[in-house]
Amino acid sequence: MQITDDFHISLNKLLPFVPMVFLLLSCADQKVPSEELVIDSVAPKTIMAIFAHPDDETCIGPVLAKYALISDVHLVVATDGRYGINDHSGIPAGDSLVVVRKKETVCACEKLGINPPHFLEAKDGLGLNGNHKFYKEAAQLKEQIRTKIEALKPDVIIPFGPDGDTGHPDHRMVGLFTTEILLRENWANDIDLYHFGWTKEQTKKFPENWGLGNVHPNYPSTEIYFSQEEEEKAFISMQCHVSQFSKEVFSEWIQAERADTTNVLYFRKFALDSKVLQTF
Ligand SMILES: [Zn+2]
Repeated sequence: MQITDDFHISLNKLLPFVPMVFLLLSCADQKVPSEELVIDSVAPKTIMAIFAHPDDETCIGPVLAKYALISDVHLVVATDGRYGINDHSGIPAGDSLVVVRKKETVCACEKLGINPPHFLEAKDGLGLNGNHKFYKEAAQLKEQIRTKIEALKPDVIIPFGPDGDTGHPDHRMVGLFTTEILLRENWANDIDLYHFGWTKEQTKKFPENWGLGNVHPNYPSTEIYFSQEEEEKAFISMQCHVSQFSKEVFSEWIQAERADTTNVLYFRKFALDSKVLQTF
């Protein structure tokens, strides 16, 4: 899907009139109030969310649940999460944890109502943690991402932006690799890339020690509203990841999300400005 209009729209305003709407908008120089403009659009046929670890999709769970009803939604998990150890689960790092996390992610996708996950099985850490060889891992993973995009033919791809949620190097790296592939393969004009990011205001609802990155509210180009029902689906889905979060953490997390009644997530479209390209 290719949308070039410099508009801001608000999905909750459109939904009563255009049920099959997706917000695919590029940044304007100045923020346009979301209520002013309405454009017709259609839901993307295929959405590919791509994140580093089995559980990263929890960040945009409600949006995945929402689009599961109107689009073909796929989750691509780049690494195997073999080092995601936690005291409460007591599962050691390595192959046994990989098996558990795969099952958890299959469960999470099922609860969201999206397709079964695609595992690229790069080693957790991509070698940046000193446990494996970065250049080898990186080259293999990039080729796998390219192949997966070719196979799924998504209209829309959603990775983390440069802020990388918690700022984890794998989060940033997988987003960068995906962007690199689109530029390298000359796909960036044909596939809409949306970086997910929190605003500072949103990060305040989570514990400070989560260390969430954020983007200034002027930069997200797209706001996607979701219903309480979609959020509840996301809560059920996130609780599949029992090896990663204790009951107490789930409880605090859900409480914080329920207290935030704005029910919106923000995305920034990666846009190539042809005017800039021609005049530089
Ligand atoms: Zn992660």
